[in-house]
Parts: sequence; structure tokens; C-alpha cells
Amino acid sequence: MQVYFIGAGPGDPDLITVKGQKRLSEADVVIYAGSLVNPALLGKAKQGAAVYNSASMTLPQVIDVIAKAVAENKRVARVHTGDPSIYGAIKEQMDELDKLGISYEIIPGVSSFLATAAALQCEYTLPDVSQTVIITRLEGRTPVPPKENLASLASHTATMCIFLSVHMLDNVVRELMDGGYPSDTPIAVVQKASWPEQKIIRGTLSTISGQIKAQGIDRTAMIVVGRCLEGDYALSRLYAPEFGHMYRDAT
Ligand code: SAH
Repeated sequence: MQVYFIGAGPGDPDLITVKGQKRLSEADVVIYAGSLVNPALLGKAKQGAAVYNSASMTLPQVIDVIAKAVAENKRVARVHTGDPSIYGAIKEQMDELDKLGISYEIIPGVSSFLATAAALQCEYTLPDVSQTVIITRLEGRTPVPPKENLASLASHTATMCIFLSVHMLDNVVRELMDGGYPSDTPIAVVQKASWPEQKIIRGTLSTISGQIKAQGIDRTAMIVVGRCLEGDYALSRLYAPEFGHMYRDAT
């Protein structure tokens, strides 16, 4: 295998997987998503590796770099932020490589919505609160299918992780409330989760917009909304003393 799509993780260079780091350190050519991948990760690339920042490249240019490297028997690391399956635009790259008969492997990464849970020290799936996590975004230049509009997703009042939308927080809040979240629902915004400059802002649907404006946060942030961010929940059945299961008898 010569081509690897690698999830770089959310920012902290230690949050790449062991396998991802290994493949990165072996690559002759590294193409990384410069807007979000921590440049510190490039320090793990091999000395003399050719490094490309995909932020200023088009899809054909990226494919061209990969195809040339493969033709020269070189190894390529295509490094995406978080996990490449989430808003990573890898499908279009894979389809082009398929057309060229170039095979590849994907190495998953820690998505930013998971680093955000760690930063918030929260559990998204609390018994009696929510057993569902919705990953979504507000429509921007990329359209969102009408059946997935934020208000309709909000009607489930499940835990929601909203990507790519903090610069439109007023609209996010409006749609969440239109969809059925009460105005006192807890919401948190985490900017640059796992980076040294990580910032956490907690509020409610009625307060968050003002808080975010005051902090000047308008990019690289995750929005989390739901009652999982506050105190009330039921204890898990898994660890309940009176609840036995395959690996442990009830006491
Ligand atoms: N594939 C990435 C997401 C890319 S889309 C992943 O799995 O995380 C880019 C969006 O991800 C940003 O607009 C922001 O909403 C979110 N994001 C990426 N890195 C982040 C971080 N360190 N902290 C908070 N949000 C982040």
C-alpha cells in the first residue's frame, strides 16, 4: 500500500493514532489540511519528505500530487483533521484514485466532537437523558438536505454536536429553539479542543450568543447542546450492583 488517508486527530499531536503516526513517519509525500491539522504533527514526518498544504490546492492538484508520487513508487500520507469520515471530503479523492487504479487505506482519527466531550468532561449518552448523538451542521455554502434541517433534528432533544456553524450561532440557537429545545437548555462551545489555546464556554440557549460574541469566537469550534451537559441522569445499568450480566452476577 502506498497511499494512506490518516485522521490526524483534533489538534494535540499526541492524539493521532499509533498507526497513523507510523504511516506519517514513513511517507515520502505528505499532504495535510493546513487550515486545521496542527503543523506540529509535521515534525513526525520523515526528514526530506515533500510537504503540501491542501488548503491552497484544488482536488485535481491533490490527485496529481498523489498520482505522481505513486508512479515514482513513493509513499503518500494524506492527513485530515479529526477523522476523515466527518466533513473530510475524502470520498471525492477516493473516487478519483479508484479511476486511476490507485488503492489506499484509511486510518481513523479522534474526531473533534470526541475531543470536545473530553474537554467538557461529559458523557453524551446519559441514561434517561439521551441515548443518541446527532452530528450535524448548519447549512452554509454546502447545502444540508431539507429533511435534516436543524430545527427538525432538534425535535428529538437528543445530544447534538454541531460542526462548522459557530459563526452562525444566532441561527443555530433560533433553529434549536424552534425545534423544541427549551431556552434554558445547556449548550457549550469548545474552541480548538485539545489545542493549548482551547477555550470552553458554557451557557444556555438564551445566553450563549452574547457569551460567544464577547469572546470573539467565530471559527474552529464545536457546539454541543443537550441535557447531558447538566447534572440529572440515571445511573448506568452496566455497573449497578443489583443488575447482573454476562460477566458479573447481581449482588
Ligand atoms: N474531520 C473533522 C471535522 C472537519 S470539519 C473531525 O472529525 O473533527 C471542521 C469543523 O470541525 C470545524 O468547523 C469545527 O466545527 C470542528 N473542529 C475541528 N477541530 C476542532 C477542535 N479542535 N475543536 C473544536 N472543533 C473542531
